[in-house]
Amino acid sequence: MASSEEIVTTGGCFCGAARYQVKGRPVRAAYCHCTLCQRFNAAAFIHTIHWEPTAFSWTHSATPEDVLDFYHVAHKPWKKRYRCKTCGVAIANENTKTGKWSVWGAQLDRDEHARIRNWDVVKPTAHWFYETRMLDVDDALGKWAGYENESERLG
Ligand SMILES: [Zn+2]
Ligand SMILES: [Zn+2]
Repeated sequence: MASSEEIVTTGGCFCGAARYQVKGRPVRAAYCHCTLCQRFNAAAFIHTIHWEPTAFSWTHSATPEDVLDFYHVAHKPWKKRYRCKTCGVAIANENTKTGKWSVWGAQLDRDEHARIRNWDVVKPTAHWFYETRMLDVDDALGKWAGYENESERLG
């Protein structure tokens, strides 16, 4: 297996104007059922992946400001969500307190079989904020009230 430094995972917005890469292994990856993720993404839950500050970088050729807009979450202003100016899709969250970045599995690049590349590196290991779920998930992953191993385990 490749060493952590050699692993590069890439992704981007719907139209391809905004692109990023993340290097190495994530801090954590899970399906998040919190109400913030639900409302931001109009989805029951999302596959979110957290990275150390140095792991993330934008890779589109234009300067970031030309391609990206951002939004500070009103009641959590340290959460800075970047979105593509062209297609409007939010593609990354920067935590300006910790410097950590989040990206979302559905926007990672796929292989020729439409499977997400580096799946073993980025795959979810848990369900977070499961109490606010919109549906029950019958899989083998742990279900947690908050973050994995930092909250009550529900199943
Ligand atoms: Zn776009
Ligand atoms: Zn969430």
